[in-house]
Amino acid sequence: MIGEPLTSSLLGMDREETAALVSEAGEPAYRAKQIMDAVYRQRVESLAEISTLPQEFRERLVKSGVTVGAARIENKFVSSDGTVRYLIAFADGQSVETVWMPEGDGGEAGDGSEAGAEAEGSNISTSGAKARSEESEHIAALKRCATQNPTKKDRSVQDRVRQGRSTICISSQVGCAVDCQFCLTALLGVKRNLTAGEIVGQVCAVLKDQKVSPPEDRINLVFMGMGEPFLNYENFVKAGRLLVECVGIAERRMTVSTAGIVPRIRDFGGEAIRPKLAISLNASNDALRTRLMPLNKKWNLEMLIGAARDFPLRTREWITFEYVLLGGVNDEPDNAKEVADLLRGLRCKVNLIALNPGPGIDFATPSEERVTTFQKILRDAGIPAFVRRPRGRDIYAACGQLKRTVEIATSPGHALQVLSPAPKS
Ligand code: SF4
Repeated sequence: MIGEPLTSSLLGMDREETAALVSEAGEPAYRAKQIMDAVYRQRVESLAEISTLPQEFRERLVKSGVTVGAARIENKFVSSDGTVRYLIAFADGQSVETVWMPEGDGGEAGDGSEAGAEAEGSNISTSGAKARSEESEHIAALKRCATQNPTKKDRSVQDRVRQGRSTICISSQVGCAVDCQFCLTALLGVKRNLTAGEIVGQVCAVLKDQKVSPPEDRINLVFMGMGEPFLNYENFVKAGRLLVECVGIAERRMTVSTAGIVPRIRDFGGEAIRPKLAISLNASNDALRTRLMPLNKKWNLEMLIGAARDFPLRTREWITFEYVLLGGVNDEPDNAKEVADLLRGLRCKVNLIALNPGPGIDFATPSEERVTTFQKILRDAGIPAFVRRPRGRDIYAACGQLKRTVEIATSPGHALQVLSPAPKS
């Protein structure tokens, strides 16, 4: 009989844990691989679907309280730009949001390199214009694909999209404790950490729903949804390892964003398998950053930038700094100059994100001109800076907009006609 499983959910178990489960059950060692393949590659949702296992073994697993632990898509909302916002529910009824961006999040180059790699090329503005024109073509094709039988040309465009830019943004906690003043998720507070299985489960659910499968389909992954991954460190690191080793997502295609949990940035640099690092900066001096991100009181800019300077980068790796521009607050030319001073000499790039507006957030979106001026000051100072195009703004899937929209969208009398729920999976 099977003893107490290390966890009752197969999703989230690594090779050693699955091998231990199989061994305790008195089954041959190769059963572990069969289970891992079924859970992480075929993305089954129940033990009954694991047809490679004998019926009797499956029944014993069920009796022992073992489940696959698959995440359930409770609802999904499709944006006019192709972005899909999923509401994903777990066994205890808690839910998080996970976002599928067929065109990427505008901050990644799509080939696994950060967009900052573009800066290595000689003509940034030309590549930007080309990217914009390709993007319009992609979006038009995706829209056609969604409404009618795709043409041969559409299929090839769709393939290219899938093979380079598609990005999944995943959550690491239910809610968030960090309290960034411009973020809708912060309004929820934190409810709980996600397990490694629940983090990986979001990815498996979206891959299955989108009918894509790494490594054949090249998928980018960003830990930029709800929560601060470095405040759920062990589960986040384990999930990253499972995503690389078991789901097949390339390590260089994953990026984790932290608000600046300095001791964990230092730990993270020592991990054998790790995504790339992004730091949510959002201010150019301590007074401003403490106002916008209260955690700056604990880990100030000197500590944060110090950890970034010490971070062991791999060949051709960059640190990404994210900077949400808030009109009239942190978007002055002087702020840009201060950012340039802070980051000088670091192998990094900056992603500029004009604030995504939302109810309950007391800041304004800056004008396009302000954004461009900010970008130019950074570039003139030799720092690669890119403007991230918001994805799924109309379905509240863009950066900093997750979760709260569930309540908003379902509250009586709230006219959110732009939300277009797709059929449940
Ligand atoms: S921006 Fe990120 S770290 Fe800050 S409150 Fe929102 S989810 Fe948390």
